Amino acid sequence: MEKSRRGFLKMAGTSLLGLSAAVPVVASASGVAAKKDATGIRWAMVIDTRKCQKDNGCTACIDACHVTHNVPEIPESNHEVKWVWKEEYPRAFPHQVHPYTQDSLMKRQVLVMCNHCDRPPCVRVCPTQATFKNAEGIVSMDPHRCIGCRYCLAACPYGSRSFNWLDPRPYIEEVNQEYPTRTKGVVEKCNFCVERLAKGKLPACVEAGRKAGCGSLFFGDLNDPESEVSQLLRTNNSLRRKPNLGTAPSIFYIV
Ligand code: SF4
Repeated sequence: MEKSRRGFLKMAGTSLLGLSAAVPVVASASGVAAKKDATGIRWAMVIDTRKCQKDNGCTACIDACHVTHNVPEIPESNHEVKWVWKEEYPRAFPHQVHPYTQDSLMKRQVLVMCNHCDRPPCVRVCPTQATFKNAEGIVSMDPHRCIGCRYCLAACPYGSRSFNWLDPRPYIEEVNQEYPTRTKGVVEKCNFCVERLAKGKLPACVEAGRKAGCGSLFFGDLNDPESEVSQLLRTNNSLRRKPNLGTAPSIFYIV
């Protein structure tokens, strides 16, 4: 087992037991002033968009996420539900383009999802606390508490949330019995694979990317200076989406 993965599994196991990793330092090169949460862990993802291009057209990570979480494949775009998808660079980073931006960047497809913001506006506006940030920085959804008001959709500046306008279940080819399906009238989005982390597993997209030989997705604890994500952020220039909004995303992009 590679060293970084072994470290991740050990940490995830620690998280499961509710023990604190007690590492007080935050990755500094990222420019993030992330606070230390109750468990001492702040989960984060680093996406190396340069590596993703090597397999242009590959959807292994998206497919793995959607199959794992029973995300319906609805053909009508106005009813579409998605947790992870690709956007062109100018749409993903509207504040990072100018008339002289590199051609290859302008055409680059970038993987996007919920950013698990450290200051999530979606959580602030939810009237029922159906969406909330857990102690490890993951912004979760409890569909049982969702009343379908869609305030969170309006508040999210990244379009990361989907609303079930239809009963999603007829649009799931094969239901994964290990994960609940949703109903018509509730919101859903990426959950950073919180259910897999609790079992010491990597997020499904990260695991699928590794199996596909892509190696563009990395996941770990931003509060641990020795984690793979912290080391990547210290040694590479990285971007976050719409940093001017002050939401402090937990997803970082190497471009
Ligand atoms: Fe909320 Fe959107 Fe941030 Fe996700 S990306 S935490 S849905 S504001």
